[in-house]
Amino acid sequence: IDLSTSDLSGIVADIAEEMKAAPDRGTPAAYIPPLAKVDPAKFGMAVIEADGTCHLAGDAEETFSIQSISKVFALTLALGHVGDQLWKRVGREPSGSAFNSIVQLEFEHGIPRNPFINAGAIVVADILLGRNEPREAIGEMLRFVRTLAGEDDIVIDREVADAEAATGYRNAALASYMRSFGNIHHDVERTLGVYFHACALAMSCRQLALAGRYLMAGGMLPSTGRRIVSAQRARRINALMMTCGHYDGSGEFAFRVGLPGKSGVGGGILAIVPGRASVAVWSPGLNERGNSQLGTLALERLVQRTGWSVFEPA
Ligand code: GLN
Repeated sequence: IDLSTSDLSGIVADIAEEMKAAPDRGTPAAYIPPLAKVDPAKFGMAVIEADGTCHLAGDAEETFSIQSISKVFALTLALGHVGDQLWKRVGREPSGSAFNSIVQLEFEHGIPRNPFINAGAIVVADILLGRNEPREAIGEMLRFVRTLAGEDDIVIDREVADAEAATGYRNAALASYMRSFGNIHHDVERTLGVYFHACALAMSCRQLALAGRYLMAGGMLPSTGRRIVSAQRARRINALMMTCGHYDGSGEFAFRVGLPGKSGVGGGILAIVPGRASVAVWSPGLNERGNSQLGTLALERLVQRTGWSVFEPA
C-alpha cells in the first residue's frame, strides 16, 4: 500500500472516531484506586513515522499509567548494564500464563520465562538495582525514558507507585519465591521498589511513541543520531515483544495485529513497525487477558489499512 502522510493522518483520525462507537470497551483495571478512577471512555493514538512526522488522535496528549510497557525500557537499560549475561537469569519463551503467574517458576528453578511477565520484570529490576540505592536506580530509569522520548517533563506518578506497593502481595510473592532460588539478589522490598516505580511512569501516547522510536530505527534515536542499542539488540527486543508482549494473549495479538507490541494494565500498548513507525494507543478497558480491548482493535485496523504487519509482503 502506497501511503501519503495525509492518508495516514486520515486513517488515524478515522480509527479514533470509530472507537467512540465501539460496543465493547472492556473493563478497566481496578486493583488500585488511581487506575480504577480513570475515565473508561478515553481513547488516544499516536503514530510517529520514521521521518518524525507525528499523527495524533483523541486523547493522545493525556498521560496515563504505562505499567508493564515500562518492562521494555527496563529490559533495554538492564541489557546495557549486564549485556547478554541477563539471559542467565531470565528466559526468552512465551509463558502462555497470566502476567502475574507463579506456577512455572517452580519447574524452572526461579528463572522466569521471559522479561515481560511480572516475574521476569522483577528480575530485570533487581539487575537495574545493581549496587545502587533504589532511588538512584529509579532516577536512572526515569532519565533513560526521558532521553528516549526527548522530553524532560515525564514523571513517575507517586500515587500509583505507593498503591502498587500497598497492594503488591502477588509481586512480593514472586520476588520472594525467586529469591529462594537465588535469582533475586537484594531485599525484595528494594527490588520491588524499583519495579513499582517503573510501572508508575506516567506518559501520553505521544511520549510513548517517541520513546519507542529506537526500536523502529534499528537501535538509533532518530532525532539525535545517537545509538541506544545495537541493531541486533533492537531486533531481539522486538522479537520478544512479538512473542511475549501480551502475556497469554501474545499469540492472539500476533494473529490480529502482527507487530511487536507491549501492553500495560493501564490500557496502553506500544507497537513497533520496524523501519516505518512507532505507535502508541491507549484505552483503559481491558480484555480477559489484561490487554487493552480498543487499543488492540485500533492497531488491528491500522495494520489492515496500512499493510504494516511484519508478515505483509513489502
Ligand atoms: N503493576 C502491575 C503489576 O505488577 C503491572 C502489570 C501489567 O501492566 N500487566 O501487577
